[in-house]
Amino acid sequence: MRVIVLGAGVVGTTSAYFLQQLGHEVTVIDRQAVPGAETSFANGGQISVSHAEPWANPGAPLKVLQWLGKEDAPLLFRLRADMRQWLWGLQFLRECTPARTRHNIEQIVSLGSYSRSTLQQLRTDTGLQYDQRTQGILHFYTSAQEFDAALAPAEQMRALGCHRRVVDADEAVRIEPALAHV
Ligand SMILES: Cc1cc2nc3c(=O)[nH]c(=O)nc-3n(C[C@H](O)[C@H](O)[C@H](O)COP(=O)(O)OP(=O)(O)OC[C@H]3O[C@@H](n4cnc5c(N)ncnc54)[C@H](O)[C@@H]3O)c2cc1C
Repeated sequence: MRVIVLGAGVVGTTSAYFLQQLGHEVTVIDRQAVPGAETSFANGGQISVSHAEPWANPGAPLKVLQWLGKEDAPLLFRLRADMRQWLWGLQFLRECTPARTRHNIEQIVSLGSYSRSTLQQLRTDTGLQYDQRTQGILHFYTSAQEFDAALAPAEQMRALGCHRRVVDADEAVRIEPALAHV
């Protein structure tokens, strides 16, 4: 088939690559002069399979209420008289129950693990180099309450095969990055 991929960010270019591998004739179109010039240009660059807590979790409704009206909130939600926005909000709330959160963590870990192995294969197949580092990521919490809330999801992710380890502050400053696989 002849395929047009609209958008040359990380998703468009990788989709184009795999489509071409399957034998299709692919053209990538972007409104920018060069690929990867929008969201894919300067993100955090983390490949965090073990960072699989969904935004919708039991602690989210209270946080969202506290963030309302704050323009620098991590989750910016501007209330409007828009039925679709309210329906979306209701769906979001439905995903915040402990059972839905556990289910969604499982889905995210599964998708993340697949994506990571696909990326590793892509790096091997193409010789792609981009200053990648594979020592792992240290997540640290500045509130004991947030830390405690993260323990159960961390345990669940470990059970799903994530290399995720809980360390205290002393160990965090000593930690060998090579030991903290992600
Ligand atoms: C601050 C920040 C930090 C982030 N950190 C991380 C991180 O640490 N780890 C992680 O995994 N993800 C991170 N993300 C998310 C990640 O960057 C995005 O999920 C990813 O870049 C999205 O890629 P994309 O190809 O879908 O979109 P984009 O990179 O935005 O690509 C879409 C392309 O489509 C083009 N386009 C759009 N409309 C048209 C049109 N009408 N005609 C032609 N071209 C068009 C645009 O020019 C653009 O090039 C972060 C995002 C942000 C904003």
